[in-house]
Amino acid sequence: MTERVIPLLDERVAAARPPLPWVLETPTGHLADTLRRPLRDLRISVTDRCNFRCTYCMPREIFDKDYRFLPHGDLLSFEEIVRLARIFIHHGVEKIRLTGGEPLLRKDIERLIEMLARLTTRSGAPLDLTLTTNGSILARKARALRDAGLRRVTVSLDALDDTTFRQMNDADFPVADVLEGIESAAAAGLAPIKVNMVVKRGVNDGQILPMARYFHGSGHVLRFIEFMDVGSSNGWRMDDVLPSAELPRRIGEELPLEPIEANYHGEVAERWRYRDGGGEIGVISSVTQAFCGDCTRARLSTEGKLYLCLFAQSGHDLRALLRGAASDAQISTALAHIWRRRGDRYSEIRSAHTVRLRKIEMSYIGG
Ligand code: SAM
Ligand code: SF4
Ligand code: SF4
Repeated sequence: MTERVIPLLDERVAAARPPLPWVLETPTGHLADTLRRPLRDLRISVTDRCNFRCTYCMPREIFDKDYRFLPHGDLLSFEEIVRLARIFIHHGVEKIRLTGGEPLLRKDIERLIEMLARLTTRSGAPLDLTLTTNGSILARKARALRDAGLRRVTVSLDALDDTTFRQMNDADFPVADVLEGIESAAAAGLAPIKVNMVVKRGVNDGQILPMARYFHGSGHVLRFIEFMDVGSSNGWRMDDVLPSAELPRRIGEELPLEPIEANYHGEVAERWRYRDGGGEIGVISSVTQAFCGDCTRARLSTEGKLYLCLFAQSGHDLRALLRGAASDAQISTALAHIWRRRGDRYSEIRSAHTVRLRKIEMSYIGG
């Protein structure tokens, strides 16, 4: 029987209001944490709700009809999100990813995208604005997202086999609709599309080759992600993790591969190219080969709490500052203080003990 850790307390309350700084700082774009990691990426969760119940993320036993999602008034408004995004950009953020829950369920998400797409980085370049979606309503939304200024999209897809896919999303959602979403996104100009597959041993590892064959030559980049111990509700066990490093060998036996250079320093996916010119795949070994040393990501929850690590146990309540009439300079300085103290490197120190700690849920903070 699978051992399941049920969260007894709601981690969403565990966030301290950062103290208001007395001495204000001008951001230089060169913030560094205790491990000398800069702040470059911001992931913003725009909703904690989802129309799927992926077993590894929002297991139905916990996220059931009695689960209390955040009330609308607790969510950051689009204006609040954009205000914070500007402050993060002044500190060096160049890439923003919208996530959730399912971000396409947030009402008028196109309006937020339009507002964020107008922002530029410190050097005046367009912001690298992207979004991760389960693809369920992407076919309907792709054109509007592109028109609003979205540049790229990542679609999560764990199986090609319809039965396996329906079991994993636990919402009886058909795979054909997600595949249609991917093609609509490509047609709308959101290509190249990254397709993320979470691999759980004994559940969908039989889908690795079918997925590789399907996306070979499609122009989309399939990336394999190890099942992670995020949150406290998905009953994670190391035995369920299939080390990603094994996959290029498995796939390569049928479709020969060769390793290629990272696109940029700190890229989390290890890249492999098909020798026959059929495109590339990526493997993300979040569990078996930690990449904390290059982690430049901050995460903002739906209700405006800042988390410095995917596996954080508590956050920093930026919404309290926003709604408490703090100035931009005060929030910016508070953020600088928080980032400078950051020392998170969970994946490097994962142990039987840390796995059992209560952590924030993936559906709350986004991937
Ligand atoms: N709902 C959107 C989606 O599924 O793409 C966005 C949010 S979802 C939390 C972001 C990503 O996290 C997805 O690619 C999902 O597969 C991944 N994810 C969720 N739980 C995970 C886990 N336990 N281990 C690895 N990846 C996980
Ligand atoms: Fe929803 Fe994404 Fe989590 Fe699946 S992984 S339950 S689609 S938030
Ligand atoms: Fe970054 Fe935390 Fe993941 Fe390490 S465990 S890569 S610090 S999010």
